[in-house]
Amino acid sequence: QAKAASRNAVRFFDPQMQQALEMRTQLESELGHGIATGELRLHYQLQVDAGGQSLGAEALVRWQHPQRGLLAPAAFIPLAEESGLIIPLGEWVLRETCRQLAIWAAMPEMRSLTLAVNVSRRQFRHADFVDTLRRTLHESGADPTKLRLELTEDILLEADEMVFARVREIRGLGVAFSLDDFGVGYSSLPCLHRMPLEQLKIDRSFVCRLGSDADALALVRMLVALGAGLGVPVIAEGVESEVQRRLLRAAGCGAFQGYFFGVPTPADEFSPRPAHG
Ligand code: C2E
Ligand code: MG
Ligand code: MG
Ligand code: MG
Repeated sequence: QAKAASRNAVRFFDPQMQQALEMRTQLESELGHGIATGELRLHYQLQVDAGGQSLGAEALVRWQHPQRGLLAPAAFIPLAEESGLIIPLGEWVLRETCRQLAIWAAMPEMRSLTLAVNVSRRQFRHADFVDTLRRTLHESGADPTKLRLELTEDILLEADEMVFARVREIRGLGVAFSLDDFGVGYSSLPCLHRMPLEQLKIDRSFVCRLGSDADALALVRMLVALGAGLGVPVIAEGVESEVQRRLLRAAGCGAFQGYFFGVPTPADEFSPRPAHG
């Protein structure tokens, strides 16, 4: 009797929490359904070099929700990671990116562009990841040397031999690696030199403070110097103004991405000509 009462007490203790849980469960099933029925979209954001030439783009996922409209990754990627839906989601993103690379390969003004995709920790560590990547490249006919995987520092943080072996195997396919959100997870520093990286991507949190905060400039200079020391080119993300672009360039940063050059757009609206630069 007392036990049953306390069980009920727990169940009805926090109706708000109960409601949040139910919403989460619903969103999870909607996401699973959305992935399977083609509700995901990719938007592409331009990356340019110091001379304003286009280098390529980053593919960023969105979810065209039937009731809620176009959702940004922050609204569903964390849920996808927790639930395991990041595996089918990530496979779709890879497939779509490779399909786009193959389309661009047939267009003279697009064929030299690289495409970067974000890969989350759980997806990268999944047993089938390398096989899926190999199969996707093969089936799409995409040039592996035009594909770049963006990994965040949390993957290096727990870097065991499996991670390094996997990175080497993927490098062997011709695919490149970029370290995303560089500078935020400083604890990965000891592992950096062991990673065959083609690019370090300075986090937006440093870039957005440039011009108003002298410390930010010192930090950016340090990150660029770190890249130079490792022999890895550096790109800055979240560049929104000419002032930021100029400061970054003076600090030795050789590539840029951000609203100043172009916002993320669907493939059919994507132009390799930067808005500025
Ligand atoms: P990220 O990889 O660091 O991507 C950069 C984010 O900054 C994007 O947000 C982009 O739209 C935004 N951004 C670009 N330029 C500017 C700028 O000048 N100013 C400002 N304020 N923001 C700018 P988005 O598209 O909302 O993506 C957020 C994060 O979601 C990404 O961060 C990435 O970690 C994750 N994500 C996106 N697509 C995928 C995906 O296909 N798979 C996985 N696993 N994660 C993804
Ligand atoms: Mg990224
Ligand atoms: Mg980033
Ligand atoms: Mg970021």
